[in-house]
Amino acid sequence: MAEKNIVIVGAGFAGVYATKRLAKHFKKDKDVTITLIDRHSYFTYMTELHEVAADRVPEDAIQYDLQRLFARRKNVKLVTDTVTTIDREKKLVKTKHGAYPYDYVMLGIGSQPNDFGTPGVKEHGFVLGSWEEAIALKKHIQDVVRRGAEEHDPDKRKALLSLVVVGSGFTGTETIGELRDWRDVLAKENKLDPSEISFTLMEMAPTIMNMLDRSDANKAERYLTKKGVKVMKNTGVVGVHEDHVDLKDGSTFPTATLIWTAGVKATDQAANFGLAQARAGRIVVNSHMESQEDPNVYVVGDVSFYGGNSDRGEPQIVQGAEASAKTALLNIENKMAGKPGNVDYKASYSGFMVSLGSRYGVANLMGIFHLSGFFAMLMKHLVNMLYFLQNYSGYYFFQYLMHEFFRTRNDRNLMRGHVSRQGNVLWAVPSRIFLGLMWLVDCAGKVSGKESWFLDKLRLPFDWLQPATTSGASAAGADATSAASGAATAAKTAAPAAKAVFSLSYQYGKEPMMVFDKMPNWMYTITKAMIPNQDVAFFMQKTMTVIEILIGLALVAGLFTWLCGATSVMFTAIFCLSGMFYWVNIWMIPMAIAVMNGSGRSFGLDKWVVPFLQKTFGKWWYGKPRALYGSDAAK
Ligand SMILES: Cc1cc2nc3c(=O)[nH]c(=O)nc-3n(C[C@H](O)[C@H](O)[C@H](O)COP(=O)(O)OP(=O)(O)OC[C@H]3O[C@@H](n4cnc5c(N)ncnc54)[C@H](O)[C@@H]3O)c2cc1C
Repeated sequence: MAEKNIVIVGAGFAGVYATKRLAKHFKKDKDVTITLIDRHSYFTYMTELHEVAADRVPEDAIQYDLQRLFARRKNVKLVTDTVTTIDREKKLVKTKHGAYPYDYVMLGIGSQPNDFGTPGVKEHGFVLGSWEEAIALKKHIQDVVRRGAEEHDPDKRKALLSLVVVGSGFTGTETIGELRDWRDVLAKENKLDPSEISFTLMEMAPTIMNMLDRSDANKAERYLTKKGVKVMKNTGVVGVHEDHVDLKDGSTFPTATLIWTAGVKATDQAANFGLAQARAGRIVVNSHMESQEDPNVYVVGDVSFYGGNSDRGEPQIVQGAEASAKTALLNIENKMAGKPGNVDYKASYSGFMVSLGSRYGVANLMGIFHLSGFFAMLMKHLVNMLYFLQNYSGYYFFQYLMHEFFRTRNDRNLMRGHVSRQGNVLWAVPSRIFLGLMWLVDCAGKVSGKESWFLDKLRLPFDWLQPATTSGASAAGADATSAASGAATAAKTAAPAAKAVFSLSYQYGKEPMMVFDKMPNWMYTITKAMIPNQDVAFFMQKTMTVIEILIGLALVAGLFTWLCGATSVMFTAIFCLSGMFYWVNIWMIPMAIAVMNGSGRSFGLDKWVVPFLQKTFGKWWYGKPRALYGSDAAK
């Protein structure tokens, strides 16, 4: 194939989806280059912007570095630059700092908040359409609440401590829910009575959350109201000022924080491409996601307008963005393979999930299952986690778990803080060293004296390995040489072996109880397959002893503690199942789990070794980190 360039503009949900799949599809095709251009070097997980704005997760929790997302995709070229226009004659995508030739281009530059020209929104209001806007809002709220706590004039104090969201779509409801979740932390930090901070959701329509099934919306409304959120329906905001807003009915409402989420429109730059635009500036496409003007220019995601199913266009949501990207990429693949590019857009919306803070949400799955509370939130997390797996990013899957479950502050997660309590790893150091010493004590008897596991005395107690079976088998039907060697082995193993158990027994004249006296059948089958004969058994008993010694030494030194803890758990479980472990030693399992908390970083070598390995392997696998912004820092 002659050299082909596919240029994807915008690394949002649509652009990332398309780039991942095209890169995979053309993996073996050296002539195809996929160039992904975005004005940032990261992908913003837009659907969780409110979590940053309300300080539930750290700022970088929703910012996924493109270089990490596309690590080792050799056919993907990343460009950090702002696209200004497309020269369709010369087939060039033009950016502020360069130009990129294309055979096919996919435009997915997203949307931005739409204030419909309402006076004062730009000057005094806040919107939530980008990472920067989420941070600006967070900083404003922190500032305004601090000022409110210090304000003595009751009217000014009220306005400063009143947070208002306009619009009850996904963004508005999730934002007000999340802000309410933040209330107690804000109050505590500023020594305020929490009830002084007020939350109001204003909606022009007579009902709220109109994108949801009515019963789900009612549940969400009841929850918000129960939490003290004031829901004002039939309320239009017509002007925004520094300390109040004007309402359509002529009244005013005091607030220094107006968050406008009452509409979206196509990103302003959509007007620069010479392509027909429809409602809210969205670019018109046909069912193949091709622009009206040029079949080689595809438009996907929030910025595209496909009017085939509804004269309002497809909903501007993630599922729509990915479905349109899929249509476009399949058509591009077909065209490049010389087939007609006639895959049609198929709307498939498998459900909606709306979070109202960290612990409550409502969800509608496939229009059939309606969930609320814990299970709705769990579903939302699962869908988010699935996103990373679908995009082949184990790294961000792990980061998501950390940010949403294990490293959240102030108990603001689904598990109400039970899985995120942070403690000083110093307290786990004695346990780590003790556990390491126990492994070494166990091994002390295995490496010295008559009972050493390194002598040719079989120590594994499994019946199929025992001398009677072995010598019989060896003698039967073997030639003279093998019979002789069989006899020798039998002679060696005939001496009664000491019982093979983990040596700590606390024995005072009585044998402690085994966890399992006899192996469960499934374990028997697996072990027999893995250790079929005495030769393997001798090898295994020596190898296991060496590994135990290494684990013991490493735990004492605090080296690779997580790995050693996990291996300790695994070994202990195997010993239990093999009928080789006393109940009195079962503490090793919870203790091994406990020391996996990074205890090697306190008075241990992990303090230096782990960061060194993370840095070295990170650089090797993902490349050198790139600046957040900047002109073409392409790899
Ligand atoms: C706060 C919030 C909550 C939401 N909640 C939900 C939800 O719960 N469920 C749901 O399904 N949807 C939700 N949405 C909507 C969802 O985020 C969008 O539908 C989705 O992001 C659209 O994807 P996209 O790829 O079209 O655009 P985006 O994800 O917005 O990506 C566009 C990309 O284009 C880049 N770009 C723009 N202009 C240029 C340029 N000129 N040059 C280079 N790059 C450019 C941007 O930097 C950005 O990376 C929410 C949106 C917001 C803002």
